[in-house]
Amino acid sequence: MARIKFLPKIAECPLCKSAVKLDPVQYMSQQMHDDSKPEYSPKGQLIMLCEKQNSPKNHERIYQRVMSTNPQDSEVWSLLADYLVRQNRLAEAEDLFKKSLKIKPKDPLVLNQFGNCLFKQKRIEDAIVVFNEAIQVNPKIVHPWLGLGTALLNKDKLKEAEKCYRKSIDLTPYGWYPTWFQLGWCLYRQKKLKEAEEAYLKSLRIRPGDLSATFHLGRIYFEQNRLREAEKMFHVVLRSLPNNRETQDFLNRIRTTNR
Ligand SMILES: [Zn+2]
Repeated sequence: MARIKFLPKIAECPLCKSAVKLDPVQYMSQQMHDDSKPEYSPKGQLIMLCEKQNSPKNHERIYQRVMSTNPQDSEVWSLLADYLVRQNRLAEAEDLFKKSLKIKPKDPLVLNQFGNCLFKQKRIEDAIVVFNEAIQVNPKIVHPWLGLGTALLNKDKLKEAEKCYRKSIDLTPYGWYPTWFQLGWCLYRQKKLKEAEEAYLKSLRIRPGDLSATFHLGRIYFEQNRLREAEKMFHVVLRSLPNNRETQDFLNRIRTTNR
């Protein structure tokens, strides 16, 4: 019998040159199903994996060294700012995004990251301004549409948010998980259950087995009184997250309804 070997794959971090272990399955499924995540470009993915596996401080030191030797390189400023966002050091990150934008104003990708940083600090109005600015510079980049949609959703501006998500979907013909998932949530909140169902199904086609989308789909079936289908979805979630309270509650409600 042929033996199939799954060799652990090792890659080199493009930043600090440390060895990074790849999870081939995870790496491949991301490559296959998510077609447009510049922040998760193969290079970016390796940098993030390296930060999880090795000391992230190495990266900080490298960025700072390059910044001191090459202070006019706005990209290094925003890379370090991104790193700080990942470390949840948001105030420091904000400062660096501003500096990066001073060197190279109106860089739409940096504006987008800056908007995300403001959103994470719950400064939603400020984030909306910055996402809009990024869209003005280049309306063909998908990320600021997603960011703007989510900020508007946060402000309960559901119809405006839906427009932004649909815009970002138009820009990603092969499908991008976050926009379909967020659109599903936005439609659900407008009580457009049928359309929300389609959006979650679409997001599951892009990222099969995703537990969040599966749970939301279950809830939509539940609310439409499609209890068999709902039950199936909730069982899928519990198989991976056996202690998930919300899912257990739904299953209990289905059981009591059936009695
Ligand atoms: Zn590294």
